[in-house]
Amino acid sequence: MDSHRRTRTALIVGAGIAGTTAATALARAGWQVEIVEASPSRTTSGWGLCLTGPALRALDELGLADTCLAEGYGMSEITHVDIRGESAGEVRLPRLIGARRPAMVGIARPALHRVLHAAAERCGVVVHHGQTVTAVDQEGERVRVRLTDDTERQVALFVGADGIRSSARGLLGLRTSLAEHRQIVWRALVPRPSWGTGIHQFAGQPHTAGLVPLSDSRAYVFLTENGVEPSVLPDAELAPRLRQLLEPFPRRVAELGPLVSASASVVRRPLRTNLLQGGWHRGSGVVIGDAAHAPAPQMASGAALAIEDGIVLAKELGRHESVGAGLDAFVDRRARRCRTLVETSVTIAALEQARRHHEAHPLVDACHRLMAEPA
Ligand SMILES: Cc1cc2nc3c(=O)[nH]c(=O)nc-3n(C[C@H](O)[C@H](O)[C@H](O)COP(=O)(O)OP(=O)(O)OC[C@H]3O[C@@H](n4cnc5c(N)ncnc54)[C@H](O)[C@@H]3O)c2cc1C
Repeated sequence: MDSHRRTRTALIVGAGIAGTTAATALARAGWQVEIVEASPSRTTSGWGLCLTGPALRALDELGLADTCLAEGYGMSEITHVDIRGESAGEVRLPRLIGARRPAMVGIARPALHRVLHAAAERCGVVVHHGQTVTAVDQEGERVRVRLTDDTERQVALFVGADGIRSSARGLLGLRTSLAEHRQIVWRALVPRPSWGTGIHQFAGQPHTAGLVPLSDSRAYVFLTENGVEPSVLPDAELAPRLRQLLEPFPRRVAELGPLVSASASVVRRPLRTNLLQGGWHRGSGVVIGDAAHAPAPQMASGAALAIEDGIVLAKELGRHESVGAGLDAFVDRRARRCRTLVETSVTIAALEQARRHHEAHPLVDACHRLMAEPA
């Protein structure tokens, strides 16, 4: 009998969205799971994010969709506004967890992390904070993993879920090159304006902005700044600069400027994407989430892919006799969907950059419909 069925032990690098979801899905399937997380504490800072239908559907499989809906703001429409401030149409997204529940949820990152960590811990997953992995060696069917505290583990499965700059990927000998897009992505937490009951996306000249509700009282403003090289701004300059970028937009966006000025949480990130070519696994080690495929945020679906990865990984390992065969099946099932999403998100980012918003909107719609297909 194959050893992975006798001693189903897994070590996951990264307690982010992909790592905690995979840990919960594996633990529920009977695996003993440990996570090593580089961050010294379990608190996560940062902006909010939008979990689309596929993310909610995958979370529902773990019994977590309703908790996320209770922690966030459920909604089903995206309103597109053109550069004159006129409505350019509304997209109604498919409700993948039933007609009575919304199509998506806006949720603060710390709230999502709390939900995912609590679920993993309820299943017996152990999370080691302030730790990472320094070496990974395949020894027969097992993987020997060395941690920064100089301890070792011998596990049946090694999972790199450590984000776009993954070091687990390199330790497995998998190579990628991150793509830069001359775009800067901004987010700011603000009080929710009364009209912010769904996603609003405002085409601008030359940037794009929008609003996503996170709760009855909070929302986040997003802005994509086009045609800029990666750079760093001092924290004190973030809110004034974002307000300045919002100024040329007409109508409703004008209301957001003063809210941004008062925001204590403004983040600014250069847009980078990742698509790992070839296999995502080597021996009994695999990478998932942004470590394997990081789309541009324009499709708001990176988290959905990360959550789906964890669930599909546990299912395919459960269906196959050996870890290697399970990982082959996992990658076969995931690679095309993830590649399509990354490539489409990059095309949408380029169309925004070229101010061809009218071409981007149908592509966003088509891609959401494609993602509505089962993972
Ligand atoms: C500005 C912006 C906005 C976005 N908005 C959305 C959105 O609205 N909707 C959506 O679906 N997606 C969105 N995304 C994408 C989404 O955030 C990612 O796809 C998702 O977070 C990927 O999850 P992950 O677990 O793979 O990686 P991460 O969330 O990056 O988690 C990786 C974890 O690994 C840890 N780690 C890193 N290195 C190590 C190491 N060496 N050892 C141990 N631990 C390590 C990190 O501390 C972190 O906890 C957005 C992305 C950006 C940049």
